[in-house]
Amino acid sequence: MVADLLIDDAYLYVDRGWEIAGGWIAIKDGRVQAVGAGADRPEARRVISARERLVTPGLINAHHHMYQNLTRAFAPVTGASLFDWLRGLYPRWAMLTDESVYVSTFVAIAELLMGGCTTSMDHMYVHPRPLLIDAQIRAAREIGFRFYATRGSMTRSVEDGGLPPRSVVQDEDTILADSVRLAETYHDPAPGAMTRLALAPCSLFSVSERIMVESARLAEAHDLRLHTHLAEDHDEDRYCAEIYGCTPVEYFERVGWAGPRSWVAHFIYPSEAEIGRLAHAGVCSAQCPCSNMMIGGGSADAMRLRRLGMRVGLGCDGSASTDHASMWLETRMAMLLGRYRNGPTAMTARDALDLATRGGAACLGWEDEIGHLRPGACADLVIWHLSDVALAGALSDPVEAWLRCGPAQAATTIVHGRVLLEDGYPVAPHLPEILRAHERLARRMQAVPVGR
Ligand SMILES: [Zn+2]
Repeated sequence: MVADLLIDDAYLYVDRGWEIAGGWIAIKDGRVQAVGAGADRPEARRVISARERLVTPGLINAHHHMYQNLTRAFAPVTGASLFDWLRGLYPRWAMLTDESVYVSTFVAIAELLMGGCTTSMDHMYVHPRPLLIDAQIRAAREIGFRFYATRGSMTRSVEDGGLPPRSVVQDEDTILADSVRLAETYHDPAPGAMTRLALAPCSLFSVSERIMVESARLAEAHDLRLHTHLAEDHDEDRYCAEIYGCTPVEYFERVGWAGPRSWVAHFIYPSEAEIGRLAHAGVCSAQCPCSNMMIGGGSADAMRLRRLGMRVGLGCDGSASTDHASMWLETRMAMLLGRYRNGPTAMTARDALDLATRGGAACLGWEDEIGHLRPGACADLVIWHLSDVALAGALSDPVEAWLRCGPAQAATTIVHGRVLLEDGYPVAPHLPEILRAHERLARRMQAVPVGR
């Protein structure tokens, strides 16, 4: 059977423990048709040579806040703690509109493609206006990106002891009704889906107990996944002790979230026993190395969590905390952080790549189809570019070289068998216009006039 596309002459990383030097991968109908080496390659309508290049599964982003690219590197809060940073930015984010959410999602996905990401979730929890997630899904569909939207929420404003202004929080009934509407409209459980939806209250301290409990109940009824920030900051420990009389993980268990539907962002400060309990329950976590280091707090010990039985993925986190969205850079940082913390034998490039692929897929409950390139998987993959200068002398291990040398950029990013990034740049329609609109909207939100 003639393939739609053949990537030829690659160093092919198919999955953990399966690599093919001089390999090829054939794609048909958005799926991996076959992989192999040498002369038995099938006929294909289009052939892309990946000569002397590494080809990997697309990286998976398990935690992000895309709209924040409208306030990147925002000078008034670059020196703030997490809670002060949030207090400084919420009034800006209260200006989000349907247009700015569409445009910021479009730009975020273009940037993710450049860093080798083929599937991303987005934790969209600021809702000053209705239908913002609808705008995000519109942008992802126009590009052809595999998108895991999450219906974020906040109910506690400053008046109720929370951090955000009243204009960005919503009442419980509005949140729950919109969660059902979005799930029924967009969540596609079918194999090879391009759009899925999870429920994602922002954090334990920003929503009411009813929202946590009812979100878990709705997830069960509609077969959805659940996501939130957990054990990110010591302020959260103090808040939970004072309001709920327990630790964040104990509260998470109490509201019915400790099950295989859930994945959490950060998970920095649980006790050893709590890690064991959530791992046993099937909860996954997403480490965000650059964001954690930028904010200057702690970071999860990803390899230790794995040893204790928890599946771990990676996320680039919000575009105003990390300010970039290269999943290659997150993967490299995860490796550096693991070795910095636990020594040179603690983590390899393959361990980090496994977090960014299989680990992310586990977070999204999607390991049967994404995060690897076994025949039958979704054809989501990346041909990587490193300059000949950066690779000079790197002769003995292409996967270690990919993450140790660099910076690496995606040369070609393919999602569902379609080339969405070519020669290192997105093929997205009307990207220049979108970037002009993004600048206009970001200037308005940051109150930075043209010329400054
Ligand atoms: Zn986050």
